[in-house]
Amino acid sequence: MPERATFSTDGQTWRHTAPGKKEGARILYEVTGTGGPLWVAWGPPFTPRDTDALLAEAEKLSPAAKAFELARTRGGRPVRGLRVSEASTPKPPGIWVHARQHAWESGSCWVARGFTEWLVSDDADAKWLRAHAEVFVVPIMDVDNAATGNGGKEATPRDHNRDWDDNPVYPEVAAAQQRLRAMVKEDRLAVFLDLHNPAAGDPTFFYILENQLLKEGARPLHRAGLRAHQQNQAAHPHE
Ligand SMILES: [Zn+2]
Repeated sequence: MPERATFSTDGQTWRHTAPGKKEGARILYEVTGTGGPLWVAWGPPFTPRDTDALLAEAEKLSPAAKAFELARTRGGRPVRGLRVSEASTPKPPGIWVHARQHAWESGSCWVARGFTEWLVSDDADAKWLRAHAEVFVVPIMDVDNAATGNGGKEATPRDHNRDWDDNPVYPEVAAAQQRLRAMVKEDRLAVFLDLHNPAAGDPTFFYILENQLLKEGARPLHRAGLRAHQQNQAAHPHE
């Protein structure tokens, strides 16, 4: 239950409701309609159609941006992404950003979208990054569950986010692994960013840096943080 629900009167523009009123295990959001259709959502939606629009816009804005198809899902839907690079060296540092391994977490797509819009913009840092790295963005990984409106958590046959072993069941995970492994083999995978939503009502976030990138004093904290996270995962597997 988010603090505010999201609604739209045209299916395009989304607004937040006023904060909901909690009543025990339920919450009440008030929405005033206009007499026409009304869309109400957990959070601002982001569907494969939004991916298509984002990739087309990025390609229009920058010659460095090129859309690609990462894989076809088990349901036969395309998983699309964007490659952005103007690097002059053949094997520049690789940056991989994907979102929405959990289909309900539409907020992660909006972060991927904001990053993409910045990446193809005239901003000096974005230009620098394009000139020195090869960046991949996949706005929706679990396209099947995002398309059908499922949550995706604890999904059958497997939670998408827990499919990252040697035998992934999702073709898009296998395809991402293949590309990531190739960059690892060339010793140039610089960043791997897996975007998620925090749980409802939880404003905190966490991220994990490689050990070598941490300052000496931060390493024990990093280990302790990981341990705490693993214990938390074991105790609350829904996070
Ligand atoms: Zn998640």
